[in-house]
Amino acid sequence: KLYNQVMDLKGNIRVYCRVRPFLHGQSNYMSTVENIEDGVITITTPSKHGKGHRSFNFNKVFGPSATQAEVFSDTQPLIRSVLDGYNVCIFAYGQTGSGKTYTMTGPKQLTEQNQGVNYRALGDLFFLAEQRKDAFLYDVSVQMIEIYNEQVRDLLVSDGTNRRLEIRNSSQTGLSVPDASLVPVSSTFDVIDLMNLGHRNRAVGATALNDRSSRSHSCLTVHVQGRDLTSGTILRGCMHLVDLAGSERVDKSEVTGDRLKEAQHINKSLSALGDVISSLAQKNPHVPYRNSKLTQLLQDSLGGQAKTLMFVHISPEPDALGETISTLKFAERVA
Ligand code: ADP
Ligand code: MG
Repeated sequence: KLYNQVMDLKGNIRVYCRVRPFLHGQSNYMSTVENIEDGVITITTPSKHGKGHRSFNFNKVFGPSATQAEVFSDTQPLIRSVLDGYNVCIFAYGQTGSGKTYTMTGPKQLTEQNQGVNYRALGDLFFLAEQRKDAFLYDVSVQMIEIYNEQVRDLLVSDGTNRRLEIRNSSQTGLSVPDASLVPVSSTFDVIDLMNLGHRNRAVGATALNDRSSRSHSCLTVHVQGRDLTSGTILRGCMHLVDLAGSERVDKSEVTGDRLKEAQHINKSLSALGDVISSLAQKNPHVPYRNSKLTQLLQDSLGGQAKTLMFVHISPEPDALGETISTLKFAERVA
């Protein structure tokens, strides 16, 4: 039994890489992505003797022309397992501008075709719950929080309050932030309204030049409770949909004060996340959950029977090469 659990761990972590297409006005650029084949991405790197190459392995690599539907297509088994009582985390990692929000939410002008993972996951969740309604009665509720400078904030408040919330892992309720608003939902439309509220609240702290959304982690958590109508057994599962802060390294000689503090907090929490996932992938018995708010928050949903999917994003531009390589190295550690 233990052997099986251990064997499962590696299979419970999947890492996908997604390359953003060039944006308007970038048609003259050369992509740093040289080749994509069978889960291997090859990057062109300049070297002393001309051109160098580096390849990285993933469970899957999506090129610039991959559609939102293709990117989501392998995610359905995860949604099913949430309804079976498992915990799931889906992350978007990458430098600012690499497409994290596009993958999770979609572009500003949303259509049914370009909706991101969040909408599709919820659509599937309600669809599957409906299919099982003769056997299970499901209650679904949602929390949405932000972690900024290692402080947790509720994004679903309607009065603009900015209370600091504590993380308290309670296996009883499955809630790791029991004081954050927990809103019952019965359709994707309900969740879209809540996500819009959360996005508006997230913008409150931001000035025009300081897009806060790129420097905080946002986490939409969908809690599912299912009652088996024959046996009365209760199943509890949850799905965390996490749009991480931008992973770019800031030049310490160029920023000071608040920006430096933000950068240090982001750096710390992203490395803590990398450390947790790589110890799980390596079946290391000690998993360092305590090193950041993010990993504390997700402790019950990382490792054990939980399933993790990380979308790692890269930008194709030559001037992003340094960040591209460090993103791919981060991902290589956890894959
Ligand atoms: P991030 O959240 O990582 O900062 P965004 O998701 O905001 O990055 O993406 C930056 C810009 O690139 C946005 O204008 C977005 O719509 C666009 N973009 C990102 N990924 C894609 C994609 N796969 N296809 C088309 N446009 C994309
Ligand atoms: Mg974003």
